[in-house]
Amino acid sequence: MHKIIFADANSDYEKAHYVICGVPFDGTSSYRLGSRLAPDEMRAASYNFETYSSFFDYDLADVDIHDAGNLEVADTIDDTLPGISKYADKFVNDGKIPVILGGEHSLSYPFVKACLKKNPGLGFVVLDAHMDMREEFRDEKNSHACISRHVIEDLTNKYVSIGIRSGTREEYDYVRENKVKMFTSEDVHSIGIEKVISEFRDYIKGPVYLSIDMDAIDPAYAPALGTPEPYGITPRDVRAVISCLAPQIVGFDLVEIAPAYDSGGTAVLGAKLVRDFIAGSAKARQTL
Ligand code: MN
Ligand code: MN
Repeated sequence: MHKIIFADANSDYEKAHYVICGVPFDGTSSYRLGSRLAPDEMRAASYNFETYSSFFDYDLADVDIHDAGNLEVADTIDDTLPGISKYADKFVNDGKIPVILGGEHSLSYPFVKACLKKNPGLGFVVLDAHMDMREEFRDEKNSHACISRHVIEDLTNKYVSIGIRSGTREEYDYVRENKVKMFTSEDVHSIGIEKVISEFRDYIKGPVYLSIDMDAIDPAYAPALGTPEPYGITPRDVRAVISCLAPQIVGFDLVEIAPAYDSGGTAVLGAKLVRDFIAGSAKARQTL
Protein backbone atom coordinates (compact mmCIF):
# COMPACT_ATOMS: atom_id res chain seq x y z
CA MET A 1 0.00 0.00 0.00
CA HIS A 2 1.10 3.58 -0.65
CA LYS A 3 2.71 5.20 2.39
CA ILE A 4 -0.09 7.71 2.81
CA ILE A 5 -3.62 7.28 1.47
CA PHE A 6 -6.25 9.94 0.88
CA ALA A 7 -8.49 10.40 3.92
CA ASP A 8 -11.55 8.12 3.99
CA ALA A 9 -10.25 6.08 1.03
CA ASN A 10 -10.53 2.94 3.11
CA SER A 11 -12.32 0.69 0.65
CA ASP A 12 -10.64 -2.17 -1.17
CA TYR A 13 -10.43 -1.92 -4.95
CA GLU A 14 -13.19 -4.39 -5.77
CA LYS A 15 -15.82 -2.72 -3.65
CA ALA A 16 -14.90 0.89 -4.48
CA HIS A 17 -16.93 3.23 -6.70
CA TYR A 18 -14.18 5.84 -6.70
CA VAL A 19 -10.53 5.05 -7.33
CA ILE A 20 -8.09 7.79 -6.45
CA CYS A 21 -4.65 7.65 -8.03
CA GLY A 22 -1.72 10.03 -8.09
CA VAL A 23 0.36 10.69 -11.17
CA PRO A 24 3.61 12.25 -9.93
CA PHE A 25 4.87 13.62 -13.23
CA ASP A 26 5.78 17.22 -14.14
CA GLY A 27 8.35 16.73 -16.89
CA THR A 28 6.86 19.11 -19.50
CA SER A 29 5.93 21.87 -17.05
CA SER A 30 6.98 25.10 -18.67
CA TYR A 31 7.63 27.49 -15.77
CA ARG A 32 7.80 26.09 -12.23
CA LEU A 33 8.28 22.37 -11.60
CA GLY A 34 6.92 20.54 -8.60
CA SER A 35 3.45 19.20 -9.43
CA ARG A 36 4.89 15.68 -9.11
CA LEU A 37 4.81 16.32 -5.35
CA ALA A 38 1.16 17.39 -5.29
CA PRO A 39 -0.56 13.97 -4.99
CA ASP A 40 1.03 13.23 -1.61
CA GLU A 41 0.63 16.84 -0.44
CA MET A 42 -3.11 16.62 -1.17
CA ARG A 43 -3.31 13.25 0.56
CA ALA A 44 -1.69 14.75 3.67
CA ALA A 45 -3.96 17.81 3.51
CA SER A 46 -7.09 15.64 3.17
CA TYR A 47 -6.84 14.74 6.89
CA ASN A 48 -7.65 18.34 7.75
CA PHE A 49 -11.35 17.86 7.07
CA GLU A 50 -14.35 16.26 8.74
CA THR A 51 -15.74 13.23 6.92
CA TYR A 52 -19.12 14.99 6.86
CA SER A 53 -19.65 17.58 4.14
CA SER A 54 -22.12 20.19 5.35
CA PHE A 55 -22.39 21.72 1.87
CA PHE A 56 -23.47 18.45 0.26
CA ASP A 57 -25.04 17.03 3.44
CA TYR A 58 -23.15 13.80 2.81
CA ASP A 59 -20.61 11.83 4.81
CA LEU A 60 -17.52 10.56 3.02
CA ALA A 61 -17.27 7.81 5.63
CA ASP A 62 -20.30 6.28 3.84
CA VAL A 63 -18.63 6.24 0.41
CA ASP A 64 -16.56 3.37 -1.01
CA ILE A 65 -13.32 5.07 -2.01
CA HIS A 66 -10.06 3.31 -2.84
CA ASP A 67 -6.66 4.97 -3.09
CA ALA A 68 -4.54 3.08 -5.64
CA GLY A 69 -1.42 5.08 -4.71
CA ASN A 70 0.81 6.75 -7.28
CA LEU A 71 1.09 5.32 -10.77
CA GLU A 72 4.54 4.61 -12.12
CA VAL A 73 5.95 7.37 -14.31
CA ALA A 74 9.00 7.59 -16.59
CA ASP A 75 11.44 10.40 -17.35
CA THR A 76 9.54 11.65 -20.39
CA ILE A 77 5.86 12.21 -21.06
CA ASP A 78 5.94 9.95 -24.14
CA ASP A 79 7.28 7.08 -22.03
CA THR A 80 4.87 7.86 -19.20
CA LEU A 81 1.54 7.99 -21.05
CA PRO A 82 1.33 4.32 -22.23
CA GLY A 83 1.71 2.99 -18.68
CA ILE A 84 -0.90 5.44 -17.40
CA SER A 85 -3.29 4.40 -20.20
CA LYS A 86 -3.32 0.81 -18.98
CA TYR A 87 -4.46 1.85 -15.53
CA ALA A 88 -6.97 4.36 -16.94
CA ASP A 89 -8.53 1.61 -19.07
CA LYS A 90 -8.54 -0.83 -16.17
CA PHE A 91 -10.22 1.55 -13.70
CA VAL A 92 -12.87 2.62 -16.20
CA ASN A 93 -13.56 -0.88 -17.54
CA ASP A 94 -13.93 -2.13 -13.97
CA GLY A 95 -16.75 0.40 -13.55
CA LYS A 96 -14.84 2.81 -11.30
CA ILE A 97 -14.91 6.59 -11.40
CA PRO A 98 -11.24 7.56 -11.61
CA VAL A 99 -10.15 10.54 -9.47
CA ILE A 100 -6.71 11.63 -10.58
CA LEU A 101 -4.35 13.71 -8.49
CA GLY A 102 -1.80 15.40 -10.78
CA GLY A 103 0.87 15.98 -11.72
CA GLU A 104 0.67 18.11 -14.80
CA HIS A 105 -2.20 18.64 -17.21
CA SER A 106 -0.92 16.39 -20.02
CA LEU A 107 -1.89 13.43 -17.80
CA SER A 108 -5.60 13.99 -18.40
CA TYR A 109 -5.40 12.58 -21.92
CA PRO A 110 -5.31 8.81 -21.23
CA PHE A 111 -8.11 9.13 -18.67
CA VAL A 112 -10.35 11.13 -20.99
CA LYS A 113 -9.66 8.58 -23.71
CA ALA A 114 -10.55 5.66 -21.43
CA CYS A 115 -13.76 7.38 -20.28
CA LEU A 116 -14.73 8.13 -23.90
CA LYS A 117 -14.30 4.49 -24.94
CA LYS A 118 -16.67 3.44 -22.19
CA ASN A 119 -19.04 6.43 -22.56
CA PRO A 120 -19.66 7.36 -26.22
CA GLY A 121 -20.61 11.01 -26.58
CA LEU A 122 -18.51 11.99 -23.56
CA GLY A 123 -18.31 15.73 -22.89
CA PHE A 124 -15.16 17.40 -21.56
CA VAL A 125 -15.33 20.38 -19.21
CA VAL A 126 -12.06 22.00 -18.22
CA LEU A 127 -11.32 24.77 -15.74
CA ASP A 128 -8.08 26.49 -16.64
CA ALA A 129 -6.43 29.90 -16.87
CA HIS A 130 -4.78 28.75 -20.08
CA MET A 131 -6.07 27.78 -23.48
CA ASP A 132 -3.75 24.75 -23.77
CA MET A 133 -4.65 24.89 -27.48
CA ARG A 134 -1.15 24.68 -28.96
CA GLU A 135 -0.42 21.86 -31.37
CA GLU A 136 2.97 21.51 -29.75
CA PHE A 137 5.09 23.47 -27.33
CA ARG A 138 8.90 23.52 -27.28
CA ASP A 139 8.91 20.61 -29.78
CA GLU A 140 6.78 18.55 -27.40
CA LYS A 141 3.41 17.39 -28.75
CA ASN A 142 2.32 16.02 -25.39
CA SER A 143 3.21 19.15 -23.42
CA HIS A 144 0.83 20.33 -20.72
CA ALA A 145 0.28 23.42 -22.91
CA CYS A 146 -1.45 21.28 -25.59
CA ILE A 147 -3.96 19.15 -23.69
CA SER A 148 -7.15 20.92 -24.75
CA ARG A 149 -6.12 20.90 -28.41
CA HIS A 150 -5.51 17.15 -28.32
CA VAL A 151 -8.78 16.44 -26.52
CA ILE A 152 -10.75 18.49 -29.06
CA GLU A 153 -8.99 17.13 -32.14
CA ASP A 154 -8.51 13.49 -31.13
CA LEU A 155 -11.23 12.70 -28.61
CA THR A 156 -14.32 14.88 -28.26
CA ASN A 157 -15.39 18.30 -29.49
CA LYS A 158 -18.20 18.40 -26.96
CA TYR A 159 -15.93 20.71 -25.02
CA VAL A 160 -16.35 23.63 -22.62
CA SER A 161 -13.60 25.64 -20.91
CA ILE A 162 -14.07 28.02 -18.01
CA GLY A 163 -11.71 30.56 -16.42
CA ILE A 164 -9.57 31.20 -19.50
CA ARG A 165 -7.40 34.33 -19.55
CA SER A 166 -4.16 33.35 -21.25
CA GLY A 167 -3.16 32.11 -24.67
CA THR A 168 -1.32 33.08 -27.83
CA ARG A 169 -3.02 35.08 -30.58
CA GLU A 170 -3.05 31.86 -32.64
CA GLU A 171 -4.85 30.00 -29.86
CA TYR A 172 -7.49 32.74 -29.62
CA ASP A 173 -7.89 32.61 -33.43
CA TYR A 174 -8.27 28.81 -33.32
CA VAL A 175 -10.98 29.03 -30.68
CA ARG A 176 -12.85 31.71 -32.63
CA GLU A 177 -12.60 29.93 -35.98
CA ASN A 178 -13.71 26.61 -34.53
CA LYS A 179 -16.44 28.14 -32.37
CA VAL A 180 -15.08 26.45 -29.27
CA LYS A 181 -17.28 27.00 -26.21
CA MET A 182 -15.13 29.05 -23.89
CA PHE A 183 -15.99 31.18 -20.88
CA THR A 184 -13.26 33.54 -19.75
CA SER A 185 -12.59 34.46 -16.13
CA GLU A 186 -13.95 37.90 -17.07
CA ASP A 187 -17.22 36.22 -18.15
CA VAL A 188 -17.45 34.49 -14.78
CA HIS A 189 -16.66 37.75 -12.98
CA SER A 190 -19.16 39.84 -14.93
CA ILE A 191 -22.19 37.54 -15.30
CA GLY A 192 -21.56 35.10 -12.44
CA ILE A 193 -20.86 31.38 -12.46
CA GLU A 194 -24.57 30.42 -12.26
CA LYS A 195 -25.28 32.23 -15.53
CA VAL A 196 -22.19 30.69 -17.14
CA ILE A 197 -23.37 27.23 -16.08
CA SER A 198 -26.86 27.89 -17.45
CA GLU A 199 -25.30 28.85 -20.80
CA PHE A 200 -23.57 25.48 -21.31
CA ARG A 201 -26.01 23.28 -19.39
CA ASP A 202 -28.00 22.11 -22.43
CA TYR A 203 -24.85 21.55 -24.47
CA ILE A 204 -23.23 19.31 -21.85
CA LYS A 205 -25.79 16.56 -21.38
CA GLY A 206 -24.85 12.96 -20.60
CA PRO A 207 -21.53 11.67 -19.30
CA VAL A 208 -18.82 14.23 -18.72
CA TYR A 209 -15.16 14.31 -17.73
CA LEU A 210 -14.23 17.23 -15.48
CA SER A 211 -10.63 18.42 -15.48
CA ILE A 212 -9.58 21.07 -12.98
CA ASP A 213 -6.33 22.83 -13.72
CA MET A 214 -5.86 24.62 -10.39
CA ASP A 215 -4.52 27.74 -12.09
CA ALA A 216 -8.09 28.52 -13.16
CA ILE A 217 -8.39 29.77 -9.59
CA ASP A 218 -6.96 33.18 -8.71
CA PRO A 219 -3.40 32.91 -7.33
CA ALA A 220 -4.62 34.81 -4.28
CA TYR A 221 -6.47 31.62 -3.28
CA ALA A 222 -4.10 29.15 -4.93
CA PRO A 223 -0.57 30.56 -5.13
CA ALA A 224 1.28 27.23 -5.37
CA LEU A 225 0.94 26.63 -9.10
CA GLY A 226 3.21 25.72 -11.97
CA THR A 227 2.01 28.67 -14.04
CA PRO A 228 0.10 31.21 -11.90
CA GLU A 229 -2.07 33.72 -13.76
CA PRO A 230 -3.74 36.68 -12.01
CA TYR A 231 -7.43 37.68 -12.40
CA GLY A 232 -8.78 34.19 -11.83
CA ILE A 233 -12.04 32.64 -10.66
CA THR A 234 -12.79 31.73 -7.05
CA PRO A 235 -12.93 28.39 -5.21
CA ARG A 236 -16.72 28.86 -4.87
CA ASP A 237 -17.01 29.17 -8.67
CA VAL A 238 -15.19 25.84 -9.01
CA ARG A 239 -17.39 24.20 -6.40
CA ALA A 240 -20.49 25.42 -8.24
CA VAL A 241 -19.31 23.69 -11.43
CA ILE A 242 -18.47 20.50 -9.51
CA SER A 243 -21.84 20.56 -7.80
CA CYS A 244 -23.80 21.10 -10.99
CA LEU A 245 -21.98 18.44 -13.05
CA ALA A 246 -21.47 15.88 -10.26
CA PRO A 247 -24.36 13.59 -11.33
CA GLN A 248 -22.86 13.25 -14.83
CA ILE A 249 -19.15 13.02 -14.07
CA VAL A 250 -17.51 9.71 -15.04
CA GLY A 251 -13.91 10.88 -14.64
CA PHE A 252 -12.26 13.68 -12.65
CA ASP A 253 -8.80 15.12 -12.36
CA LEU A 254 -7.17 17.96 -10.48
CA VAL A 255 -3.77 19.02 -11.77
CA GLU A 256 -0.94 21.59 -11.76
CA ILE A 257 -0.47 22.32 -8.04
CA ALA A 258 3.24 22.91 -7.33
CA PRO A 259 3.24 22.62 -3.54
CA ALA A 260 6.62 24.24 -2.88
CA TYR A 261 5.33 27.73 -3.65
CA ASP A 262 3.17 28.31 -0.59
CA SER A 263 2.84 27.08 2.97
CA GLY A 264 0.34 24.36 2.17
CA GLY A 265 -2.87 26.24 1.41
CA THR A 266 -3.14 25.31 -2.25
CA ALA A 267 -2.89 21.58 -1.49
CA VAL A 268 -5.56 22.05 1.20
CA LEU A 269 -7.85 23.65 -1.38
CA GLY A 270 -7.06 20.92 -3.91
CA ALA A 271 -7.87 18.20 -1.37
CA LYS A 272 -11.13 19.98 -0.48
CA LEU A 273 -12.23 20.17 -4.12
CA VAL A 274 -11.50 16.46 -4.56
CA ARG A 275 -13.59 15.73 -1.46
CA ASP A 276 -16.35 18.01 -2.70
CA PHE A 277 -16.42 16.15 -6.00
CA ILE A 278 -16.69 12.75 -4.31
CA ALA A 279 -19.35 13.93 -1.86
CA GLY A 280 -21.41 15.60 -4.59
CA SER A 281 -21.10 12.63 -6.93
CA ALA A 282 -21.86 10.00 -4.26
CA LYS A 283 -24.92 11.94 -3.13
CA ALA A 284 -26.18 12.17 -6.70
CA ARG A 285 -25.66 8.43 -7.26
CA GLN A 286 -27.58 7.66 -4.10
CA THR A 287 -30.58 9.72 -5.14
CA LEU A 288 -30.68 8.42 -8.74
MN1 MN B 1 -3.85 23.40 -18.25
MN1 MN C 1 -3.29 26.27 -16.71
